[in-house]
Amino acid sequence: MSSVLPPEVEFVKAQITGFDFQTRSVHTDRGDFTYDRLIIALGSQPATFNIPGLSEHALMLKSLANVRAIRGHLEVALSGLSATRSNPYPIVIGGAGITGVELAAELAEGLRDLVRAHDLESEALKIVLVEAAATVLPGFDQKTINEATRVLKLLGVSVRTNTAIERVEADRVWVKPIGSDHPQELLTQTVIWTGGVRANELVLNSGLTLGARGAAVVDGYLRSVDHPDVSVVGDNALVRDPRNGQIALPCGQLAAQQGKYAATQILADLHGAVVKPYIPHLDGLLISLGSYAGVGTVGPVWVRQLAARVMKIGAETRYLLNIGGVTLVLARGLLLRHEFVALTRSLNGMQRTPQAKGKGRGNAVA
Ligand code: NAD
Repeated sequence: MSSVLPPEVEFVKAQITGFDFQTRSVHTDRGDFTYDRLIIALGSQPATFNIPGLSEHALMLKSLANVRAIRGHLEVALSGLSATRSNPYPIVIGGAGITGVELAAELAEGLRDLVRAHDLESEALKIVLVEAAATVLPGFDQKTINEATRVLKLLGVSVRTNTAIERVEADRVWVKPIGSDHPQELLTQTVIWTGGVRANELVLNSGLTLGARGAAVVDGYLRSVDHPDVSVVGDNALVRDPRNGQIALPCGQLAAQQGKYAATQILADLHGAVVKPYIPHLDGLLISLGSYAGVGTVGPVWVRQLAARVMKIGAETRYLLNIGGVTLVLARGLLLRHEFVALTRSLNGMQRTPQAKGKGRGNAVA
């Protein structure tokens, strides 16, 4: 951490347990810290909407530890599968927003190696992406929805829209088509929840005025409407675009912008200067669809397939450069190497069998 922070910043590793806005203190497992100005940038947590059994039995996708847990779980699930099993084992992903769509595509590719490693046929598994809305990526333009749907199909992902996850048990998940009274069961021990995010528990319990997703309502300067000495940024802030009143997307790109803005605003206060209110500005939004494809926008331009995937890698590299400079890019070289290796492998595969690009991929999990 110290390598990405300037020397003026003292980093303290501690678990925050609560806030006291009256005494201006942050309670932690390493004692209390008092502040003159506070920026809350705690990140979100999965929203489970009180769906029975979800917290107990579903895997979440929020942290690196979660990713390792999913990997470990899949290894165990696959090693327990019989090679002569007649029905494919369903890996159920609940929620087809960006997270669910990106995960389904990535998993469809990654499982090919896992299946081979366990001496199973590619038909032994299928990924079922369940979405309560009428399409994947609800809220996106139709072109983007169509492209994501097309690639998911190519990858062999079974997409079930207009269907809600109702209940999760240890060995099954109940899904219900919207408008039907008859839930259906899918026998599986593998349910991964990507059904949305809500504010961090500490913010939910903070006493601040909250809005949608449990996020703290902030003014045009990203300060809590209750305490002007408390700024809130990222997924925990309910930020409105002053140009149209719409709620800004809770995404990484805007969170990074808001962090910078909050710092600038505090510095301006200290120097008696004035800053303009915050305006969210999305440079575009790119969704990866496995290692060789993507879809989204860069500025006003709609992109898809390989161009979108390459731009997404570019955006990730730029993000690393912004927060930690070249040092961080090099330190995270392994991650980028993985991306480039996967991309190169896909490119090679596409060059060898350009017309059959979809078939092999889809078979892995169909
Ligand atoms: P989301 O809220 O965008 O999507 C969750 C989906 O789950 C929705 O489509 C919802 O209809 C569905 N859902 C909810 N309850 C359900 C149920 N019971 N059964 C079936 N489906 C159900 O959440 P997300 O995808 O985690 O994204 C959160 C935020 O993070 C978004 O604002 C997104 O823009 C951002 N994000 C951005 C990127 C990127 O820029 N590439 C990647 C991931 C996430």
